[in-house]
Amino acid sequence: MIFPRNPRYKYASEIADSLLEHLETISFPIDPLEIIHKYKWGVITYSELARENSISIQTVAKACQSNDAYVTFDEESETYTIAYNDTVFSRNRIRFTLMHEIGHILLNHLIDFDETILTRNSLTADKYKILENETNHFARNVLAPVYAVKQLPTISENHVSSFFGLTPIAAKVRIQLLQQDWINKSLQSNLLITKFKAIIFDTLNMKICGSCYCKFSLPNSKYCPICGSKKLLKRGYRIMKYEGYSLDNNGKALICPRCNNEDIHAKGEYCPVCGLMLVNRCTGYKFIDSSYEDESVPCGTIVPGYARCCHICGCSTTYYESGILPAWDEKGSHSLPNHTSTSRLVIVPNRETKVVNSNVVEISDDDLPF
Ligand SMILES: [Zn+2]
Ligand SMILES: [Zn+2]
Ligand SMILES: [Zn+2]
Ligand SMILES: [Zn+2]
Repeated sequence: MIFPRNPRYKYASEIADSLLEHLETISFPIDPLEIIHKYKWGVITYSELARENSISIQTVAKACQSNDAYVTFDEESETYTIAYNDTVFSRNRIRFTLMHEIGHILLNHLIDFDETILTRNSLTADKYKILENETNHFARNVLAPVYAVKQLPTISENHVSSFFGLTPIAAKVRIQLLQQDWINKSLQSNLLITKFKAIIFDTLNMKICGSCYCKFSLPNSKYCPICGSKKLLKRGYRIMKYEGYSLDNNGKALICPRCNNEDIHAKGEYCPVCGLMLVNRCTGYKFIDSSYEDESVPCGTIVPGYARCCHICGCSTTYYESGILPAWDEKGSHSLPNHTSTSRLVIVPNRETKVVNSNVVEISDDDLPF
């Protein structure tokens, strides 16, 4: 293949978007190791290489001419292997580095240009720079896609860095190249914009309960919808799943949770067979002891099918009061018998999005943006 004279940004955008389109689940920050495992590429750390060869990490880095990572292609077995320096201090730097190497693979650099390993010395400086620019463009637009960034309520370095898991410098470059990447966005990006709306909403509202360790994504939540705790965290290491019932867009059960009646009238909120209230909503009763709080008026919020507690005011829910959802610490709370789901909220409010326009596009893509 003829070596391109300039970086093919449109091509890199297309490959980035088709990768994002094919990932079943996306949550930010994106984990490149999941992608590597999905494609069944080999992966090895510098620590492993150092141990296997009884040499230091520095020697490994020197031998492969990169302190961060490299990718090799074995022509015989047609397999790729990515080696990366796991001792690098910043997890976000490792994230970008791995996505960069994935870029070399998916952009077909090693096959099209007949390289078994891409290093500074294996190509002329100009050619190396072109491939590096393409793959940095790819990595940036997978980790922090331009149309995802544009949907954030505010676009600041801090916010972009923590939301997408980028180093502060990579976040800065991300913001500065917004305009340029928008111009080079792929044809299929229109489809992805809708997909990303939901993902961004989920990520922005994502919380983990510090008491029962459930993970949920509900706007303006002050209380855990499972156990009522106010100890809500942004990130957590342990995640527990508590099941609930599948609801339609109006918050009404698809099948009666109590009698399994499927013939539920389009109108009416009660099951015509057993009389159960089919909509799960805030009752205004105290969550802990079910006594009525004088001063509390039911806020009426319609809550997800798994909510025992209203995430807005901390009162109990109709499903919890009618006994079809057991308390979170009771037996059976993790698996309900019928038509259950751990589905997330369906109501997505309209939000104003402030896009900070960045007209200054002078930063170069030449080096890894750390
Ligand atoms: Zn590279
Ligand atoms: Zn909880
Ligand atoms: Zn019923
Ligand atoms: Zn409420």
